[in-house]
Amino acid sequence: MSFDFCKIDTVVDYSFLRIDDQDEVELMVTRFHKKRRINIYYTNSVLSNQINSFSYFDGINKVDRAVIMIPMSGIGLIHELGHTFGLYHIFETKYGAEKADGSNCKVSGDLICDTPASPNISPDEDCTFTSKQKDENGDFYRTEVGNYMSHFFCAHCFFTTEQYEKMANNYLNSPIKLW
Ligand SMILES: [Zn+2]
Repeated sequence: MSFDFCKIDTVVDYSFLRIDDQDEVELMVTRFHKKRRINIYYTNSVLSNQINSFSYFDGINKVDRAVIMIPMSGIGLIHELGHTFGLYHIFETKYGAEKADGSNCKVSGDLICDTPASPNISPDEDCTFTSKQKDENGDFYRTEVGNYMSHFFCAHCFFTTEQYEKMANNYLNSPIKLW
């Protein structure tokens, strides 16, 4: 897989300087999206101050859903690329919470085993993870704040091997291909 740089464009409509809700996301996509490309929109703020970025989960699987919205700083770009290529948060609970010992890692949490179980906690001011939360076995969590799919944007620095493999497989198995 390789990436090419296609084009820079400017949206001359200041109502999109803040993306406040899902309706505005959809409006932006309807008006400006270029199909079969990863469209990265830089704006002032996205949805909420805390998250401040957006993408569609597994967006590479559809012609018009590879959409990433991020602030001018670029913070969140790699995290959102992770979602675009089909990664869940490491604290995902859609399939049930992953136990701290990882024993149910294949069928719960982010469905990936080389990422640690993690509660959904935002960083404190010095970007450290502090939580007295326990899992159903009564164990404490030892997460990886640096993983791109955590919400510790201040510490982001790596994907795991299985995360890379899942992204590559999602792309290879996608019914459509971007170009
Ligand atoms: Zn996310």
